[in-house]
Amino acid sequence: MPLTLPNELLSVRGLKAYFYTESGIVRAVDGVSFTLDRGECLCLVGESGSGKSTVALSILRLLDSPPARIVDGEILFNGKNLLTLPEKELLQIRGGRIAMIFQDPQSSLNPVLKIGDQIIEQIIQHKKMKKSEAKKRAIELLNDVGIPEAERRVNEYPHQFSGGMRQRAMIAMALSCGPEIIIADEPTSALDVTVQAQILEIFKELKDKGLSILFITHDLGIVAEIADKVVVMYAGKIMERGVVNEIFDKPLHPYTRGLFECLPTTMKAKKEFPYIPGTIPSMIDPPKGCVFHPRCRYKFEPCDKDIPKEYPVSDTHTVACYLYGGGK
Ligand code: SF4
Repeated sequence: MPLTLPNELLSVRGLKAYFYTESGIVRAVDGVSFTLDRGECLCLVGESGSGKSTVALSILRLLDSPPARIVDGEILFNGKNLLTLPEKELLQIRGGRIAMIFQDPQSSLNPVLKIGDQIIEQIIQHKKMKKSEAKKRAIELLNDVGIPEAERRVNEYPHQFSGGMRQRAMIAMALSCGPEIIIADEPTSALDVTVQAQILEIFKELKDKGLSILFITHDLGIVAEIADKVVVMYAGKIMERGVVNEIFDKPLHPYTRGLFECLPTTMKAKKEFPYIPGTIPSMIDPPKGCVFHPRCRYKFEPCDKDIPKEYPVSDTHTVACYLYGGGK
């Protein structure tokens, strides 16, 4: 069994997930490693197309294959590699010990089944429970996530719930089997601001209760609220990582700095609308050297030749940029 540290619950090591398309091989995730410890919240941050969701789907082997294929790496959960686990064992972990919440609850819930029946089905699949007990548990869970009149609403269909209530129901479903990890992929992006704040409160409470959370978002405001650790991704690679205070007090990678400069609160003081020039490159034919170099205002001699390593700037903070090592 591969070596893991005692507090380490999930360890993604050297993950490469590629899509084999007619136009070529899309290197969506290209050598990503991080660990999620027990009881912590790790936020994966980056623009759309940075590979965050592909990482999330890879963990539970939910990528459609073809065209996707995990070509390298390990994903260790309690020391077991999920990528090589027999499907039967993986089914017990998926939805049971590791649950996932997606961005759009509308498309994640079955529109023709009652909310309660969908939660009950999940409970019965993973726990040896009678249907009547599972229904009682479903009502408790809906209550816990703040659904009013849960006893009545358990019998309603998804279209009878508002967007915020549907996401609460998704969280109830994710919690139904007592998972050790929740992977939340942009769970508040489809909701309006007031509902976003309420859903975020639920995640904070779950974290306080000791649940480990892998939270995927492009919103640095959310990261400030909930993260213990932050991993910044760009074009399938990790640009910077650190504990939340390090990243917010001293963002170092030019990409991370660009993300902070584009925050509305930072923008107010400026006359010009700040932005990171250019777009995420094609991952079929990524730029040579540092993948960020075509957009980087600090690029210098080594940047378009070799890929920078992650250079440590403290025990917990690393930056994949030649400004912090290797290039001088
Ligand atoms: Fe910019 Fe060079 Fe650092 Fe890449 S390695 S972020 S191009 S300075």
